[in-house]
Amino acid sequence: MKLNRINFLLVATLVLLGYFTVQAEQDQLQKPILAKQDDVETPFSDGLPKELSPEQLDNLETEKYTFQTEVSRLMHLIINSLYKSREIFLREIISNASDALDKIRFLSLTDPEALKSNSDLRITIAADPESKTLVITDSGIGMTRKQLKDNLGTIAKSGTSEFLAKMEQNTDAITQIGQFGVGFYSVFLVADKVTVASKSNDDEDQHIWQSTAVDDFTIAKDPRGNTLLRGTQITLHLKPDAYRFLQEKNLKELVYKYSQFITFPIMVWSSEEREVPVIQDIDDDELIEESIDEEPKTEKRIVHDWHHVNVQKPIWMRDSKDITEKEHQEFFKSLTRDTADPLAWSHFKGEGEIEFRSVLYIPSAITDLFYNNIKTEQSNKPIKLFVKRVFISDEVELLPKWLSFLKGIVDADDMPLNVSRETLQKHRSLRIITRHLIKKALDMFTNLSKSDPAAYKKFLAQYGTILKYGAIEEQSYRKKLTSLLRFSSSFDTEPFSSSLDDYIERAKAEQRSIFFMTGSNIAEIEQSPFIEALLARGYEIIYFTDPIDETFVENIPGYNGKMFVNIAKGDVDFAEDDKDMMRDNELENKFRPLTEWLVSTLNQHIDKAVVSRRLTTSPLAIIAPRNGLSGHAQRVLDAQGVNHKNPNMEQIMESMRSQKKILEINPNHPVMETLLDYVEQDNITKDMTNLIQLLYETTSIKSGFPLKDITQFAGRVEGLIRKAVGISILEEAKVRVKRAEEKTEEERLADEEMKKTNIIYETEDDIEHDEL
Ligand code: ADP
Ligand code: MG
Repeated sequence: MKLNRINFLLVATLVLLGYFTVQAEQDQLQKPILAKQDDVETPFSDGLPKELSPEQLDNLETEKYTFQTEVSRLMHLIINSLYKSREIFLREIISNASDALDKIRFLSLTDPEALKSNSDLRITIAADPESKTLVITDSGIGMTRKQLKDNLGTIAKSGTSEFLAKMEQNTDAITQIGQFGVGFYSVFLVADKVTVASKSNDDEDQHIWQSTAVDDFTIAKDPRGNTLLRGTQITLHLKPDAYRFLQEKNLKELVYKYSQFITFPIMVWSSEEREVPVIQDIDDDELIEESIDEEPKTEKRIVHDWHHVNVQKPIWMRDSKDITEKEHQEFFKSLTRDTADPLAWSHFKGEGEIEFRSVLYIPSAITDLFYNNIKTEQSNKPIKLFVKRVFISDEVELLPKWLSFLKGIVDADDMPLNVSRETLQKHRSLRIITRHLIKKALDMFTNLSKSDPAAYKKFLAQYGTILKYGAIEEQSYRKKLTSLLRFSSSFDTEPFSSSLDDYIERAKAEQRSIFFMTGSNIAEIEQSPFIEALLARGYEIIYFTDPIDETFVENIPGYNGKMFVNIAKGDVDFAEDDKDMMRDNELENKFRPLTEWLVSTLNQHIDKAVVSRRLTTSPLAIIAPRNGLSGHAQRVLDAQGVNHKNPNMEQIMESMRSQKKILEINPNHPVMETLLDYVEQDNITKDMTNLIQLLYETTSIKSGFPLKDITQFAGRVEGLIRKAVGISILEEAKVRVKRAEEKTEEERLADEEMKKTNIIYETEDDIEHDEL
């Protein structure tokens, strides 16, 4: 076993060594793509391939393709609207270039040959004011002819329709374009013609993709040959209203904004006024005289060169103390394309067993796709994993689902680079990192709850449900997660006002339970008959209004030695003394005639009626049996349609639903006392039976159970009203409506004619709709 590990490490080291030697050789052998030449004035003479000449353009052997309908629709939207934030096109292009470089670097870990075609990994950006073009070049993985066609013509990711709908509503949504896997098309915010030249190791030839943002694009073999060696060059022919991006100052500012956190060098073609030696034709005599006491002559000239814009170390490699709030916010936005600042972050170094650095952020709100991804078992890609600054993957699972709303990066030092993602996923170091990340995330939540209670409430409003889900799923973090939750209660009905620790601190002397009641909202809970007795006795009740709450407490039996007790189910134990029990028995006996009569009268709904200890002002309450569903749970499950998927579940649900309830009567209520008299004297009229049914139905509504038969209930109420105003049940409403006229003979004939002429009823609207 041990030998195996040593062997493995040895092989890994050798492979890495090999990689670096090959790399070093290449660096020497190969002329970098951007080699400096003498007297350079344009970026095209300094490493960038020459633009296609008009002649070459005319003679291109192009093949024409149509865009996928959704792409066309997206481009129409982009081209035909005015946008405040057009500059994001540059962020998208830089991010694609960086992705492409990540890919080739990742590939080279297992195949050092991959970099042979070009070992200089970088991005260059140049403006050419003459041709009004912006040229962005990367030496990334490049695209084959087929990839050009597939990647820049169809959409791979789902969610585009949602994005299009969003854009149609609010054009500001454009800034989120990158999140939906269609960032590339943002180039059409500023350009009316786009040329993409690309060379991949997997294709002998370099190809050109071109589009003028109409419904089709062309692809052709590049007549200039394989000028790129490997990588992609995007040429944007700017629209006149976007010429400001050609100005060096604007361009540099923008590149700086979007490039700070890219791990590859980004170079911008720049001009600079410099003192340069004057080169003169001078004869020998003069030279001798001058060289004795004069400085060599210089003059000011505009010099062009590549300027390295992102010289900073990546943010996670810097000392956390040196990083400003603003820098974190910017980094977060560039990482996620979120437009809002994060709620909080944590930047730390894991040391000991395994060394790594990480930054974690809490986004201000949950994304539209979050639950969708969880449902469809897709990853929310919370963490970008780097190994020694090399981006590896954003699909390695480093966080459990219930934390996958976070965003961040992990950069590990000692992890094998040359293994597949699947092998990596099982690597021991990853589990250690995961443990650290969870701990740091939980610390971050705790700190936020202390340092900024208002932000913490926002946090819980967004993520509270997921934390409960985490507490249900994962026993090891259950207690910590439960302690992080906040609830409303009868003490303070404000949302997220009390923790369970607060509740326990306020609990009464002998109180063994955490009393709670569930409902869709606080008002509903507050008018429930169940809470009366507890409030009257001075107990605090937690108000659970999140649909997941009932499941949550079912899975979390207690907290800090106190059990959760649903006050709308079964018996409630107040920890009172035996004297009370005696009194209860007496009452039970006294009211037996009434409870027995109630069971026989309401036998459709209940199988037990008991004297209540929890009611103070209401006459009746309906309780679910201890193992049954409370009214709230029943409605939640009905609304979610949980039962549809599994026929067994359907049966269980049905049986729980039709489970008979327990009726509790309030022995101190005058209605109950009088009713007892009537029953004892055998003096019950039909009207009274009817009224008791009605009382049961209203109680059912108050106790949160859906009514089984609304028509019967409505009938009873109407009957009551008729009685009160003295109108017989038999008296019907007078029907006073006019019947619609039949067609005349003339109209009928006209219809027949119409059928014969075969007119198709289709409006222009219909046609457009079909196209969408
Ligand atoms: P996303 O980046 O989210 O996949 P984009 O619309 O930005 O969506 O890009 C679409 C695809 O085009 C990318 O996934 C990639 O395959 C390809 N692509 C875009 N730019 C480049 C590039 N510079 N080098 C290689 N491939 C690229
Ligand atoms: Mg992209």
